[in-house]
Amino acid sequence: MKAIKHDVLIVGGGMVGLGLACALKGAKLSVGLFERAESKPMLSLERDCRVSAIVAGNVEILRGLGVWTHLEEHAGPIRAMRVWDGQHAGSIRFEAFEIEQEALGYLIENSQTCNAMQETLHDADNVHLYCPAEIEDVQWAADQVSVRLNDGRAFAAPLIVGADGARSWIRNKAGIGLCVERDYEQKGIVATVKPQFSHRDTAYQRFSTTGPLAFLPMTGGLCSIVWSAENQDADRLMAFDDAGFLEALNLALGPVLGRIEEAGERAAFPLKARLADHVVRPRLALVGDAAHTIHPLAGLGVNLGLRDAMVLAQEIVDARRFREDIGEMDVLNRYMHKRMPDVLSVMGSMESFHQLFTHDWPMLPQIRNFGMRLLGNAGPLKAMLMRNSTGLSLPVPKQIS
Ligand SMILES: Cc1cc2nc3c(=O)[nH]c(=O)nc-3n(C[C@H](O)[C@H](O)[C@H](O)COP(=O)(O)OP(=O)(O)OC[C@H]3O[C@@H](n4cnc5c(N)ncnc54)[C@H](O)[C@@H]3O)c2cc1C
Repeated sequence: MKAIKHDVLIVGGGMVGLGLACALKGAKLSVGLFERAESKPMLSLERDCRVSAIVAGNVEILRGLGVWTHLEEHAGPIRAMRVWDGQHAGSIRFEAFEIEQEALGYLIENSQTCNAMQETLHDADNVHLYCPAEIEDVQWAADQVSVRLNDGRAFAAPLIVGADGARSWIRNKAGIGLCVERDYEQKGIVATVKPQFSHRDTAYQRFSTTGPLAFLPMTGGLCSIVWSAENQDADRLMAFDDAGFLEALNLALGPVLGRIEEAGERAAFPLKARLADHVVRPRLALVGDAAHTIHPLAGLGVNLGLRDAMVLAQEIVDARRFREDIGEMDVLNRYMHKRMPDVLSVMGSMESFHQLFTHDWPMLPQIRNFGMRLLGNAGPLKAMLMRNSTGLSLPVPKQIS
């Protein structure tokens, strides 16, 4: 069968792969995106139990891509965040007004983000979505990469992008290993819950030595929880019936939201940090979870991935404008060099936070509590940290500014 030609092949139609396709919408390039299956969200109190906090800086990116108009009504603002130490007195509060923002970020169901991106792509003449599309084989040659689907269709392009998630098939196929693979020996339990009191658009995060418990404000007065617990504890929590789980949850959170009255279906995800030992190879670039995963304690994973997608799109478009070969290492290295400082600094911060709250060194609680008090009173330093973690200090990618 004759190969269908595109300029860029994207493997994976999750938030990052679709985000990249949105960023390439309207460019003078033809894009083919392959997604294995129509996504069927797992519902918890009738909401997708997979949610992401999209930070304020990335909301600007989604606005620039035209995705936000389809998403806004589904997005729950996070106007404040309260973090406290479950075993000791330390606590800190972050308010959006401290950095002159309406919200620190927005909580959105992952399936809603994907739907909004697909709607954005609806009228994109240069982007072709192939779904369901299972890739059976990929071959790299000097001047192109070729792909064959399990239904026999064949494709070729100068560049393929792996956006196929943490256990990336394309990464494995390219023989790329992991230079970081850190098993936290924890699982993240997610569910939608209904608290007695209003969450007042506030995210609550309680840290303990066994891991953080986050309550994230959703639309409709609901909260999404991410409860990171050591494997054994997580398995025990997953095995509880609804009443037992609610009891444990109420005990762990305390009274800040009154009683948690209802909890929907739960799902648990093993937590691992990973970094691919090569993010680019000739005619291949990895983005999102295919390139790196982090602990979800600060909710930054897909935020990093969206920034990968934006920078890669910009490099591809610029390279094409200057008649460079978009699959060559000169072009792909520019993408990698621009992204690595952000990725490594977020990975490093997540590891430090994790150590700070889980290590059993006797002085650590005092250091933690002192640190939170100090930061709480250090106006400009606190504002700088907030601007960094919400992505507002990063430049808005050229293409969408
Ligand atoms: C408990 C938990 C909570 C989290 N909370 C947050 C948060 O609040 N904020 C945040 O920023 N991040 C959060 N994250 C991280 C976030 O979920 C991920 O970073 C994000 O989903 C990664 O998106 P992706 O598109 O790179 O990969 P994925 O979402 O894994 O998408 C990959 C896609 O590729 C498809 N695919 C795979 N293989 C193939 C193939 N061979 N052919 C075709 N298609 C294929 C899959 O079907 C899938 O649709 C959280 C993670 C966890 C575990």
